[in-house]
Amino acid sequence: MESGTERPGVDTGVPSVARVYDFLLGGKDHYAVDREFARRLAARCPNLDFAWEVRQNRGFMTRAVRHLAREVGVRQFLDIGTGLPTQENVHQVAQDAAPDARVVYVDNDPIVLAHARALLTGTPQGATRYIDADLRDPDRIVELAAETLDFTRPVAVNLIAVLHFIPDPDPVVARLREALPVGSHLVISHAIDRPEFAAIAEEYQREMGVGALRPFGRIQGFFGRDGWEMLDPGLVPVALWRPEVPTMVRPGTGIFVAGVARKV
Ligand code: SAH
Repeated sequence: MESGTERPGVDTGVPSVARVYDFLLGGKDHYAVDREFARRLAARCPNLDFAWEVRQNRGFMTRAVRHLAREVGVRQFLDIGTGLPTQENVHQVAQDAAPDARVVYVDNDPIVLAHARALLTGTPQGATRYIDADLRDPDRIVELAAETLDFTRPVAVNLIAVLHFIPDPDPVVARLREALPVGSHLVISHAIDRPEFAAIAEEYQREMGVGALRPFGRIQGFFGRDGWEMLDPGLVPVALWRPEVPTMVRPGTGIFVAGVARKV
């Protein structure tokens, strides 16, 4: 995307989380400033293959949603921090397994909004909706999502590679957990705090004022304690969450860890 295609509310002078992620994934919706930022990340962490990391994260999303739709029978998905539409989005994965699946997307980036309205259209039997909202306001998200999703029946809430952009996530995730009925699921991936990744958080903080690595125990806490059970294999590097082919994570790589929990 280049000049001449700017949209209202889109600042092309500073990188955006969603556009940098899209660039790393090999998408088309990014500006020079996003690509420069990604190159700076790569220069600071030469041992890390960022494209591999984000692809693995995306692969986790696909496997988790497919598992929930196909094996567990979940029919409602609330995907917060959706990102720019790409090859396989949540509604395609869910509605491929269950055409009547209902999917609500939430993001706060204006460019995601512009693309999502056009591209995220689903099956006639199901529902696909997009909400322009901030994760830091979970009450508003639950209220608007309830126009499309039935919160008396199981909902899977995806918080995939988004909580590390929130400064104080515990009350937010607690509010979402509390809004969900028994049989619901939380699907979370998060950047883990290890010395080899510190430079990445520093760059995000410097450029965008957001981005926090968190230790394993802190991330585990997001899944709730009483009344929540982790699905196998627990909280693991994204590549190792029920991989379809035998997969390894090289030492010093694997920035995202992930898991799925069920409300019992
Ligand atoms: N979940 C997708 C995209 C991750 S990129 C995936 O894992 O593949 C992170 C996304 O979170 C971006 O689209 C960004 O715009 C969004 N985001 C960041 N902070 C947010 C906030 N406070 N509220 C809502 N969305 C947010």
